[in-house]
Amino acid sequence: MYSDHEIFLRELVSNAVDATQKLKYVISGEDTEDTTIRISFDKDKKTITISDRGIGMTLDEVKKYINQVAFSGAEEFVKKFTEAKDANAIIGRFGLGFYSAFMVADSVEILTKSFIENSEAVLWTCDGSTEYTIGPGEKAERGTDIILHVSPDSEEFLDKFKLNTILEKYCKFLPAKVEFEGEVISNHDEIWKKAPAELTDEDYQQLHRTLYPLSEDPLFWIHLNVDFPFTLNGILFFPKQKAEMEALRKDRINLYSRGVFITDKVEDIVPEYLLLLQGVIESPDIPLNVSRSFLQADSSVKKISSYITRKVAEKLNSLYESDRKNFEEKWPFMEVFVRYGMISDEKFYESGTQFALFQNLAKEWKTIGEMRENLKEKQTVKNENLVLIYATEPSAQDTYIKAIEKKGYEILQMNGVIDQHYIEALERKEEKLTWKRVDSDSADKIIEKDEKIESPLSEDESKALVELFETIRPDNNMSIRCEALGEEELPMVITRPEFMRRMKEMSAMGGGMKGFGDFPEHINAVINASHPLAKIILDRKTKDSKEKLGRQMLDLARLSQGMLSGPALSEFIQRSISVLK
Ligand code: ADP
Repeated sequence: MYSDHEIFLRELVSNAVDATQKLKYVISGEDTEDTTIRISFDKDKKTITISDRGIGMTLDEVKKYINQVAFSGAEEFVKKFTEAKDANAIIGRFGLGFYSAFMVADSVEILTKSFIENSEAVLWTCDGSTEYTIGPGEKAERGTDIILHVSPDSEEFLDKFKLNTILEKYCKFLPAKVEFEGEVISNHDEIWKKAPAELTDEDYQQLHRTLYPLSEDPLFWIHLNVDFPFTLNGILFFPKQKAEMEALRKDRINLYSRGVFITDKVEDIVPEYLLLLQGVIESPDIPLNVSRSFLQADSSVKKISSYITRKVAEKLNSLYESDRKNFEEKWPFMEVFVRYGMISDEKFYESGTQFALFQNLAKEWKTIGEMRENLKEKQTVKNENLVLIYATEPSAQDTYIKAIEKKGYEILQMNGVIDQHYIEALERKEEKLTWKRVDSDSADKIIEKDEKIESPLSEDESKALVELFETIRPDNNMSIRCEALGEEELPMVITRPEFMRRMKEMSAMGGGMKGFGDFPEHINAVINASHPLAKIILDRKTKDSKEKLGRQMLDLARLSQGMLSGPALSEFIQRSISVLK
C-alpha cells in the first residue's frame, strides 16, 4: 500500500463530505450555518486534523460503524491486504475507508457529536491494534474531528505544500466547502453533471484550465451525458497539441466518483486510443475498487467504452459535416488520434472512413471516398484495385515524386509515426485498395498499365547490359533488370518493392517475422532501355570505359535513393571529378 499512502486524506475528507451531505438531508432547509470542512496540521504536535460540521455520530453509531465493520472484517482484510496490488483494491470495498488513516498515523482519535439534540460528545481512540478506548468527549459543536497522530515514517505529510498538493489533486470538485490553511480547495463545479444546454463555452474552457493549467485551450469537447442503460457523465477534451505516440501521456483522463478524484489510470474503462484525450468521466456504474481483470470483464464497463467511442465518432462527424474548412484546420491535431482509433477499433474505423482525411503533396485534403471517386480513372489497375501512392519523406524522395507527377498521379503524404500501420489497416479493411510508396517501382510501373513501351534494344543488348551491371553492383541483394521505361525517365531507377520493404520495416519495429531483422533489404535496379545512355554504354569500346560509365549511372540512381554514403560516396565524388576533367 506504500505508494498510495496519500489517499488517506481523500478517504477522510470524503467521509466528512458524506457526513455534511447527510446533515443536509436530515435537516433540509433549516440549516444556514457554516458547514465548511477544515483540514489543519500541527508540525510540533505531529497531528493532522480533519474537521467537519456534519451529521456526527452517537456512541452507538461509533461502536457500530467504526468498531464493527473493521474488526469483523479484519481477517478478510488481512488476507486481501497481502494479495492486493494497491490500496485502491481494499479501501472502500470493505468499508475500510476510515482505516486508511492508519497508513500514516500511529494513533487516531475521533471526537464526534451527533446532530441529534442533547447528544453527548464521544471520544474514540485507537493505536491501530484491535484495542481501542471509547467514552465521553469534550465537544461543543455538532460534527466530527478526526485527529491523526502522524507516525515517524509519515512525517512528510506534515507539510503545507504536500497537503495542499494532495487536496488539490483529490478534492477540487467536492460538493462541499473544503478549506485548508484558510484557502478554499473545493471551489470548482462538477459541470459535467449539468446539462450541456446550461453551459457556455467559457464554462468548458474554465474546467479545462482547472484540470490542465499548463495546457492550451482545447480544440473542442464532447459532453457525455447518459442515464440509460447506465449512468455516465463526463467531458472529454480534444487537446490542441500534436500527438506523437512516444510523447503521449496517458494519464490525462480523470475518473471521479461523487466529486472525488479516484484515478487517472482509466485504460480499462476508456478505449486505449481515447486515452490521448483529456477530461473527466464519472459513473456510478464503474466499480471503483476492483481488480483490473474484473473491470475488463464487467459488462457495463464494456458498454461505457463503446458508448464513448460512438459519441466521439458522432462529434467528429458532425464537425466534418458542418464546417469542412474548420475541420481541416483542426485535423493535424487529431490525425494521430483518429488513425490510431481506426486501427484499433472496428466500430471507430467504420465511422472514421467518413471523415478521416489524407493530404496530398499539393496540401489538399481528401477523404477515402473522394479519392476513390477522383482517382478511379487514372489509378485503377487491371484487377480493379485502386492504387494510392504515398511519400514518406518528400524531399528525400524528390526524384521519384517528380517522375510520378509527370504521369499525372496523385501523391499522398504519409509520414506520421503510425502511418505504416494505418496503411496496412486500410488495405485490410477496404476493398480493392493498395498502397505503394513512391519508390516501390518505377513511375511507369507503379500503376500497371496494359500499354507496353517498345524497347529499342535487342535481347542480346539487354542481356549484355544486365551482365555488365551485375559485375559492378554493390552486392547480390540488388537485382538488375533492363526495361523500356520511356525516354523522359531516368537512365536507371532503383526501387524498393513495397512488400519486401514493409516486411523489413515491420521486423525492425519488432512486430514482424523472426529472422527478417538481419535480412538485407532486397532492391531492384532497372536499366532504362529507352534512355540514350543505354546505347552509349553498349557502344563504348573498352570494358573499362563501359564499367566507368555504368558505375556513374548506378551511383546516380543510388544517390537519389539516399543510398550513397561513406566510402561509396567518396568514390562517387572522385569518379565524378575525373569524368569532369
Ligand atoms: P465507508 O465510508 O466506506 O462507509 P468508512 O470506514 O470510511 O467506510 O466509514 C465507516 C462509517 O463511519 C461511515 O459509513 C459513516 O457512517 C461513519 N463515519 C466515518 N467518518 C464519519 C464522519 N466524519 N462523520 C460521521 N460519520 C462518519
